[in-house]
Amino acid sequence: MKIGILGGGQLGRMFMQNAMNYPYEIFFLEPDISGPCSIFKNYFTQGDFKDYHTVLEFGKDKDVVSIEIENVNVEALRELEKQGKIVIPGPNCLEIIKDKGLQKNFYKENHLPTANFFLIDNKDELTPSSAISYPFVQKLRVGGYDGKGVQVIKNEEEMNKMWDEPSVIEEVADIAKELSVIVSKNANGEVKVFDVVEMVFDQKLNLVDYLFSPADLDKDLAHKAKDISLKAVEAFHTPGIFCVELFLLKNNEILINEIAPRVHNSGHQTIEANYSSQYDQMLRVLTNLPLGDIATKEYAAMVNLIGESAYEGEVVYQGLDKIVKLSGVYIHLYGKKITKPGRKMGHVTVVGTSKDEIENKIQEIKSNVKVISK
Ligand code: ADP
Repeated sequence: MKIGILGGGQLGRMFMQNAMNYPYEIFFLEPDISGPCSIFKNYFTQGDFKDYHTVLEFGKDKDVVSIEIENVNVEALRELEKQGKIVIPGPNCLEIIKDKGLQKNFYKENHLPTANFFLIDNKDELTPSSAISYPFVQKLRVGGYDGKGVQVIKNEEEMNKMWDEPSVIEEVADIAKELSVIVSKNANGEVKVFDVVEMVFDQKLNLVDYLFSPADLDKDLAHKAKDISLKAVEAFHTPGIFCVELFLLKNNEILINEIAPRVHNSGHQTIEANYSSQYDQMLRVLTNLPLGDIATKEYAAMVNLIGESAYEGEVVYQGLDKIVKLSGVYIHLYGKKITKPGRKMGHVTVVGTSKDEIENKIQEIKSNVKVISK
């Protein structure tokens, strides 16, 4: 069986690290000739996954086509499906998710909880008579990622910051915690829901410090988060692996922020901490194998290794020797040759028997490891 993946970044690379243990051939389509999957030379095609003809050409000799990034040509996937290829996630699901406006409408139509919103085509549609109340969130319908394309407009004076593009205008959620839930579903309709993961914020810097699994939540809330995630995934009526990003509000309500129809940054720790990882689930979904056991084995945390702000150029990882001494610490570098400020260059997973033990190690990692350039 030949499997083609659109995108050849770190998610594809971690997928391959597991998938190569199975009897299938995996191929990647990626524009960046030195991207994380370029190391799989015979299985790597340089090309633009946004281009109709390139995707069609890439898919023609594959049995299954999937993604590790959403920003791909959906029309080509539709055509490949017509030609009899298995396309996961289904093109309709992908089309909805690629556009935050369609995505929000989808939640509303399916009675899934999400922050109140409306859509605009340009900034002039927001006039004092549209009865908006400040603050509100503006999200570009297409093209945003990693928080780029999301901004809070606090008051009337800030209205001149508004982007003049089709956007979702959303109420600011009173967030207690940001959570995520990975869900896998195969073509037989079998479904697995991973334990809830929580983003632990650095209160001083107001940045995500690390991800922790399973989330520190009471049982009922964890159950509710998993239940909403499962319902959301079932509403798309397609096999796939999904990451459901949630807001737990201070009043204990849970809202869906957005869904990624692919493996996700917040599931990296499943490689070490769960019986079957999100990458292994993806492989099972693409080949319609039984999904098996995804239970959590241990507490785990994941800290991203991000390019330091003052450095751009050939990457150097400082301090790795100090942390590989620690037990339960696993390094994942993505093989990117060039570091840039804020670029995700790798991550470190820490497993352990308590949150305290893990937290100490996380602080050691953060104070010792630096991603800089030569
Ligand atoms: P992206 O798709 O770029 O990751 P998100 O829609 O996930 O963008 O938003 C990025 C971050 O912005 C979220 O993780 C959250 O911290 C904040 N955010 C998004 N929507 C809201 C909201 N309605 N209320 C409060 N904060 C929000």
